[in-house]
Amino acid sequence: MIHFLNHLFAYCNIDYNDARYVIFGVPYDSTTSFRPGTRNGPRAIREMSYNFETYMPSYDLDLADVPFIDLGNIDNTVVPETVVTEVQEAVQGIVRDGKVPMMLGGEHSITIGAVRAVRPDCFVVCDAHLDLREEFRGTNYNHACTTRCIFNDGIKEIVIIGARSGTKEQFEFAKKLHLFTADEVRTRGMTDTLAEIKQVIKGKRVYLSIDADVIDCCLTPGLGTPEPFGLAPQDIRDLIAVVAPQAVAFDYVEVSPFDHGQTATVASQMVREFIAAHWKAQKNS
Ligand code: MN
Ligand code: MN
Repeated sequence: MIHFLNHLFAYCNIDYNDARYVIFGVPYDSTTSFRPGTRNGPRAIREMSYNFETYMPSYDLDLADVPFIDLGNIDNTVVPETVVTEVQEAVQGIVRDGKVPMMLGGEHSITIGAVRAVRPDCFVVCDAHLDLREEFRGTNYNHACTTRCIFNDGIKEIVIIGARSGTKEQFEFAKKLHLFTADEVRTRGMTDTLAEIKQVIKGKRVYLSIDADVIDCCLTPGLGTPEPFGLAPQDIRDLIAVVAPQAVAFDYVEVSPFDHGQTATVASQMVREFIAAHWKAQKNS
């Protein structure tokens, strides 16, 4: 039979019932504080996925052999509280069906809804920003409040990697959490940092959230709130290899694709890295 291409993530051509991983997008950027545009993130990430081979040499794995599906985008509203609820409902359904949700953003506030659905033991977030504001510009669901909101929801075990921006108060608050700043990661090296993170997440159900701006804005400039002095794509790839085996959900958010495709290309590859790392670990356990 002749093969038809569509606008969904490349190489996912199976039934929902058979899928182990469920990708979906949330084209939402209503509370972005600086440059808008992350509503175009999911589309761009999918578009770049057609650039890659199905075979992933580092995992000796062909993605064509892994059951994953892309449901498309949520037809979301633009009201912050409502979007969070919409995401929560979507993720609840996927988790109830015994599948691993993989969400493409969209701005970071959508993570609040997904974490509420999953109720993980531990929230691991890669982000240039602390996102620990209690409230910003009139809502607790601003993307600058994501990690704080998750803490307030009762998830006290939180690991932040790559941060380099936040108020003095936020850095003070972060002492309650496991914070690995971008500078610290650079000094210690990623291998040493990951050894410690491995101890923190040991035996726990983890939610892994990656804000695209954790990576240095000079490498991936398609960002709403760009920050220099960041991590490299390889660092995040190494982190995914360590964290994915224990992750029950994943998201990649804050891709604002007005660059030459760098940011969406990296995001797209990270989605594949997560699937490969998670699938391989499951097969070996
Ligand atoms: Mn963020
Ligand atoms: Mn950020």
